[in-house]
Amino acid sequence: MSPVASILDAILPDTCVGCARPGGALCPPCLAALHSELPRRRDPTPRPRGLPPVTAAGAYAGTLRTALLSYKERGRTRLAEPLARLLAAAIVTAFCAAEVAGPIVIVGVPSTARARRDRGHDHVETLAGAAVISLRAAGIPAVRLRALRRRGSVRDSAGLSADERAHNAGSAFVVRRRARRDVRGRTVLVVDDIVTTGSTAVAVTLALEAAGARVAGVAVVAATARRCLVKADVEV
Ligand SMILES: [Zn+2]
Repeated sequence: MSPVASILDAILPDTCVGCARPGGALCPPCLAALHSELPRRRDPTPRPRGLPPVTAAGAYAGTLRTALLSYKERGRTRLAEPLARLLAAAIVTAFCAAEVAGPIVIVGVPSTARARRDRGHDHVETLAGAAVISLRAAGIPAVRLRALRRRGSVRDSAGLSADERAHNAGSAFVVRRRARRDVRGRTVLVVDDIVTTGSTAVAVTLALEAAGARVAGVAVVAATARRCLVKADVEV
């Protein structure tokens, strides 16, 4: 997101990304329509090896797709709050399905440094933080661990074999040194905005498991519809 886009988002009258009518970045009827569908399991097809169960608030289509694109790429930061509520619903659903005890512990997938620079913030961490706030407001104990960082020197996966790609993806993330104690022995949920092939979630899972965590599931705002990819490990 450019700084100008953020400023314009703050000062221009809000029109709904779903229906273009005034009444907020997502007007009550369009938001209600998104919430009318309960979060559910939406694993990618094919499902990459090592991917924990994926729970999504909805399909990456229609108003939800427009809202996520507007939030990520067009600086509509006011969409963070409604999108975070959808993410919170997916988090609760994933947590209940995993049948684990204790507070919900979530770990966001960090953006690349370039994306963070372009947008002025880490869009997933912003959603994760707002989701935790809304969960706590509803009386649900939830904790966010900013546990991961991206490694800077991941090879371009073009030309690599499937095994090499998987290894390459697995080295894309690492648990921060100061977070290792918090992660070890914890059961966590990975959160992201979108799951497409699932390869990013696998890479994050590998990094967390290497640090001693158990990943019980992945919760996202939206999952792309079924697609037929020959290789499922090319996303990171
Ligand atoms: Zn609307």
